[in-house]
Amino acid sequence: MLDLEDIFGPGGPLQSALPDFKSRWQQLRMAQRVATALEHRETIVVEAGTGTGKTFAYLVPALLCGSRVLISTGTRTLQDQLFSKDLPLVAAALGRPARIALLKGRTNYLCRYRLARIGPGGEQLTLDTAASDGATATTDTDSDDGATSLGTMLARIQRWSRTTRQGDLAEVRGLSDSHPVWPQVTSTRDNCLGNKCPEISRCHVAVARREALDADIVIVNHHLLLADLALKEDGFGDILGAADSIILDEAHQIPDLATQFFGANVSSRRIENLLKEIHTEAASYLAHIPSDSDAGELVASIVAAVRGVEQAQQQLSASLPARTGRFPLAEMGVQLNAQVDDLAHSVQTLEGKLSDLRDDSPLAQLGERVGDLVLSLDRIANLDDIEGVRAVEVTPRSFSLSLMPFDISARFLSLLQSRRCGWIFTSATLSLGEDFTHFTGRLGLVESPTLKIDSPFDYPRQSLLYLPAGLPEPASPKYVSAVIETALPLIDAARGGACILFTSHRALSQGAALLRSCWSREESPYKLFVQGEAPRERLLKEFREDGNGVLLGTTSFWEGVDVKGEALRLVIIEKLPFASPDDPLVKARIDHLQATGGNAFRDYQLPEAALALKQGVGRLIRSEEDYGTVVICDPRMMGRGYGKVLLAALPAMSPTRDRDEAMRFIRKHAPRSVAASEPVAADASGTPATAAADASVPDATAQSPSARTATAP
Ligand code: SF4
Repeated sequence: MLDLEDIFGPGGPLQSALPDFKSRWQQLRMAQRVATALEHRETIVVEAGTGTGKTFAYLVPALLCGSRVLISTGTRTLQDQLFSKDLPLVAAALGRPARIALLKGRTNYLCRYRLARIGPGGEQLTLDTAASDGATATTDTDSDDGATSLGTMLARIQRWSRTTRQGDLAEVRGLSDSHPVWPQVTSTRDNCLGNKCPEISRCHVAVARREALDADIVIVNHHLLLADLALKEDGFGDILGAADSIILDEAHQIPDLATQFFGANVSSRRIENLLKEIHTEAASYLAHIPSDSDAGELVASIVAAVRGVEQAQQQLSASLPARTGRFPLAEMGVQLNAQVDDLAHSVQTLEGKLSDLRDDSPLAQLGERVGDLVLSLDRIANLDDIEGVRAVEVTPRSFSLSLMPFDISARFLSLLQSRRCGWIFTSATLSLGEDFTHFTGRLGLVESPTLKIDSPFDYPRQSLLYLPAGLPEPASPKYVSAVIETALPLIDAARGGACILFTSHRALSQGAALLRSCWSREESPYKLFVQGEAPRERLLKEFREDGNGVLLGTTSFWEGVDVKGEALRLVIIEKLPFASPDDPLVKARIDHLQATGGNAFRDYQLPEAALALKQGVGRLIRSEEDYGTVVICDPRMMGRGYGKVLLAALPAMSPTRDRDEAMRFIRKHAPRSVAASEPVAADASGTPATAAADASVPDATAQSPSARTATAP
């Protein structure tokens, strides 16, 4: 039998199957360590620098190990790619056929029961577009997002439902998860009838879970894995329990996701939907019992209890701040906190009334879901603020109450240890320099072995890190316009192929407006691709195909953007990605660390920013053939002591503050010919003499903090 050295080596089966495959010792090293961990069911943490080929480095040992492996990814895109492309390809190359299953969150599958209840002509179709809590489906497909009418889309789903085998709604043409029909034809943990459902034998969720239990390799996503781990799923069996080992790719997302799963969240929509169902089932219950039955009185008391919940919710709504945003409950005053208690009590009363039914009617079954609500509300209402932060988020039409624990390490570790399987955490961004403790500490994995595998890319040769001088402090109202003014000649020198990463939506909009106003004086030299103006995947596809475009994105574009080759040759980072201390969750964590003797900046804000920056910088070099420049505009990178820590976290790029050097490097690696435009002619000083380069950038308006914007620590 071939060993790993043969498989990953020159002339091995991977190279035979893939003409572009390059043998890399880094990939072999990772595969060997993963193979050992799978054999001994170890828990290990592996950082594999960009270009290692970590996917194959865990897929090969997973296929060879002969045990059951579950692979969890952070995105559905990677999940689909593993299932339909990488795993079949590696299995064929190795000659090791395996049973492979893909399992998504339940909100991705058609619910036959709910579709049938809508009726053949859509009789029960409502205009309620409320998405359910915890929905994990995300589609970045090109779709008409609700432009197709409810009735037309429903008819399309009904036709498709007769032939689909997997029931994955991604198969329905033009349907996105934001279409109003989506929540009406899918189930949630709350409204699924589980084993009591009349459609259980052909339920797509149940079938997908059964197939997963029979497979050698199951591909899930982190939401599903954590739901199983936190025992929040019900009725379909324990996928985790059947695995010998679990590989978590994109594992840098786990600490934040696990914090959400170990907390609690109750939205007004979840309550309203549940009450609506209780009303419907109560009416149906009454219609099926004799008029003189004692149960009639009981149902009347249930309906009264429902009214009690509605009242408590209305009172709470009326006391919420009028403006949208997220607010810490601890700072919201006694009255609002008392109203949260009242809501919790009213839901508890309802649960008691439903449990008095003592039958297995659909109405009585709703008691279980009301019980879940009671548990969540109770945790939110009674948490000691030292253990976590409780917040209320207000939107124009709804609110949600949440609880985020400060420290999940002990609970996460004990859940891991309670499963007798191996755990392999891997990502390109888990360490700061050689130090993994920020990641391992948050998950209780400080005792687990770690391995850092450096990228095989030649960063000093392939890239340059330019730290321009003279920009104002990020708090300055002129900051964004100064960033754009700095960016314009660099973009011209590169002839496009640029991406600007912002730290807030506000800065993104300002940046886009400034670029448009500069480039509107003549025909725009570069096509702009702005986050939010098209679905993400379409935006990225068109940016890749254009080859000379300028892509603008914020938080979610700092990771997962994979543009190989010349289409991305310049990455400009507007500002250091410190989480905003104005976010109540961030503020509460900072306060908690300080109150418990920690150093919030050193132990939380700085490592988080360093990992996010590493992610952003990682967008540039994606292959051995790539060349490019990263520009970090934020003057704090050089002006503050912590800049050294941030620099140390980045790949070994050559740094410079010299603008001429940066321009030379950028021009040297710009494409020779640009199909879209030929905008740049350098003047004697080497400065591009385009309208764009000469444009004076209008003042930006003052910024306000948002998701990831720094008020200078
Ligand atoms: S078991 Fe749940 S998801 Fe499946 S058809 Fe029934 S209600 Fe829908």
